Amino acid sequence: MQSSPSPPEPAAIPPAWLQLHADRIRHIEHVPARAQQLADWPEWVHPTLVQAFLQRGISRPYTHQVQAAELAHAGQHVVVATGTASGKSLAYSMPALTSVLEGASAANGRGATVLYLSPTKALAHDQWQSMRSLNLDGLRVSAYDGDTPDDERSWIRSHANFVLTNPDLLHHSLLPSHQVWSSFLRHLHYVVIDECHAYRGVFGAHVSAVLRRLRRIAALYGANPVFILASATAADPAVSAERLTGLPVTAVTDDGSPRGPSTVVLWEPPLTELVGEAGAPVRRSVLSETADLLADLVVRQTRTLAFVRSRRGAETVAAMTRELLREVDGPGFDGPGFDGPGFDGTGFDGPGFDGPSFNGTGFEGPSFNRPLLDRVAAYRAGFLPEERRALEEQLRDGRLLGVATTSALELGIDVHGLDAVITAGWPGTRASWLQQMGRAGRQGEPSLAVLVARDDPLDTYLVSHPGALFSTPVEATVFDPANPHVVAPHLLAAAAELQLTDADFGTDGVFGSATRGVVEQLTEAGWLRRRPNGWFWTRNERASDLADLRGIGGGPIRIVEDVTGRVLGTIDVGAAHSAAHTGAAYVHQGDTYLILELNLEESVATARRESLTYSTHAREISDTRLGTVIAHQSWRDVDLMFGEAEVSSQVVGFLRRRIPQGTVIGESPLDLPTRTLSTRAVWFTIPKALLELAEIDEADVGGAAHAAEHAAIGLLPLVAGCDRWDIGGLSTALHPDTGMATVIVHDGYPGGAGFAERGFEVAQSWLRATRDAIASCECRAGCPSCVQSPKCGNGNEPLDKAAAIRLLDVVLAGAPDA
Ligand SMILES: [Zn+2]
Ligand SMILES: [Zn+2]
Repeated sequence: MQSSPSPPEPAAIPPAWLQLHADRIRHIEHVPARAQQLADWPEWVHPTLVQAFLQRGISRPYTHQVQAAELAHAGQHVVVATGTASGKSLAYSMPALTSVLEGASAANGRGATVLYLSPTKALAHDQWQSMRSLNLDGLRVSAYDGDTPDDERSWIRSHANFVLTNPDLLHHSLLPSHQVWSSFLRHLHYVVIDECHAYRGVFGAHVSAVLRRLRRIAALYGANPVFILASATAADPAVSAERLTGLPVTAVTDDGSPRGPSTVVLWEPPLTELVGEAGAPVRRSVLSETADLLADLVVRQTRTLAFVRSRRGAETVAAMTRELLREVDGPGFDGPGFDGPGFDGTGFDGPGFDGPSFNGTGFEGPSFNRPLLDRVAAYRAGFLPEERRALEEQLRDGRLLGVATTSALELGIDVHGLDAVITAGWPGTRASWLQQMGRAGRQGEPSLAVLVARDDPLDTYLVSHPGALFSTPVEATVFDPANPHVVAPHLLAAAAELQLTDADFGTDGVFGSATRGVVEQLTEAGWLRRRPNGWFWTRNERASDLADLRGIGGGPIRIVEDVTGRVLGTIDVGAAHSAAHTGAAYVHQGDTYLILELNLEESVATARRESLTYSTHAREISDTRLGTVIAHQSWRDVDLMFGEAEVSSQVVGFLRRRIPQGTVIGESPLDLPTRTLSTRAVWFTIPKALLELAEIDEADVGGAAHAAEHAAIGLLPLVAGCDRWDIGGLSTALHPDTGMATVIVHDGYPGGAGFAERGFEVAQSWLRATRDAIASCECRAGCPSCVQSPKCGNGNEPLDKAAAIRLLDVVLAGAPDA
């Protein structure tokens, strides 16, 4: 008997290439192929619908689609949390479209209606196209958003039975004028919430309040819809879905869709000779490394998408890649197949190169013989639809081989089935990363994904701890539905829609007992009027205008272009201090602007579009007073708390760092007022005896705690799915409120955003990762990849990397599972 051969390496990466870069590769994960698991169409699915799916080439659904569809059809709220491109839309289409088709025989053609919500207009439009193309008799599907013309709106309200929209429209328009939607709402059978992992932080809290308002108004018309949610894979999808809707939700996580084998490479740029702040070594920039990789892959005829965080970064990567390829193409360029320097080409047989599609007719032959450097492009938000389609098509058919893009491509744009994806810097959440990786791999073909670390402690941790990426996710979709700052304006909006009553705050009430106190405060302050039959909104303004779903309110600063006077956007005051101060390099939709002046009195920042060769980083100093403790745990002698905190902070200056190298080229002071913030924090204290045990001298306690704090802020996104900029912190050798060495990490929003709370709940995983991130950086005394922070107001001093590891070791020694 012959022994079975070992599975083939994905063709995109020959072993020689891996050897060549061994010094940068921290880990290679071979993710095996997964066979599909099919199920039968449930009997109750409308025959017309089955026909339509068959025509689309779907002969049988996957198991997870049927599992979710069955639950929803039986009246249970369900969240499908499976991989990218696993066909989550079929899961909700089965019950939702069946009910619509069955209801179509009603007198008005609307025996049942469906409301579909997506976080972006673009995604709602994609879904609309896809639903329409099913050509179902009796389905009247419409996308309804801010751009929908008035006459169309009234038709939709009276006739559509499947409406696709977003939470903003629900909040500003549908709910406040629910009377004109009454016939739609009366028959509401299903609410579909797509990409529900996008609802996190303060935005998540807002959307959860909007959904509670929706449930209340649906009930007014006698409807009790079933919620079907679709999520990226995350920790505890059912818990997040329950928080979002306030309803019990069952999770379906067993993915039955097929997947080709993939190779995932975790890549860390090397340290260079350059010197940064406080003598720290500087890593080679993520953009330079990404350009090298992209050029390598293009030479190998590998169709590759590189995701870069900013448009400027994407354009830099594309330009650098073209420059590298110019050397490869050389003067004697003679078409594809050239083996660039540094490759021996052995064993390489790039997918998509020998493929029949390339020999087929119907392509412009010469395009494939263009110099390689012409087969690389940058793609960004703001392209016209036809430019977008042309680029997508060229990438699909192989005329383009390498595209550097901002995350604009992440949602709702049609590029799949590439050979490789490079992610330049951790994109913030696991969901985004998986979504990016999902672009590679065609019909069971092998694919390659490379994650290139930025100089950030979370990136350092991830590339050296692959378990965090490939085993059970620890990152949850986090928000706090009870934040009084968020809930208050929604209670006012709810009262304007229909008076609030005691029932809303009872055990079965949509708002729950915790928010009753907020209603009483609002009544006292004169926002609501109490009458025998409830609380009423009696003011003239529109209550729904008081909540801004995508911001935190409180006097937004307008950013205005100096030449045109055009308002580019608005930004909260707090964010303006650090991102739109005078002299800031402000990035708007990928374009860079120089902020000429931030005028706080007029609430305006003037900006000029400019191609800057540097980025700016605000420096902030802060002081934190600790308030009421909400929850507490003891790890032997270490106390961990979650509670209220009063943070006062001041942006005192900013650094300029050269792009792409990241070297510091200057620092300027700023004169901005101190701001105070009532928020929530997680903190821990380390008694003297433990510090002695850790052999940390009194003089070094400050540096140890400071380094631990920076890294802890950097690593909280690992468990809380937040951005490093959503949180802040403070550390001190002796805090007046605890009388001990204390490390504090707080939410950056009034009333908190749920991030600090999540850190408290999973403190052990979080602090263990913090410790390991510091230890796994090979620098000697601290650098931006471990303990230095770009926003430190103390110039990253003092920082004691080695003592921070010892400090976290003694803290973790007392943890429950230690
Ligand atoms: Zn380091
Ligand atoms: Zn600091």
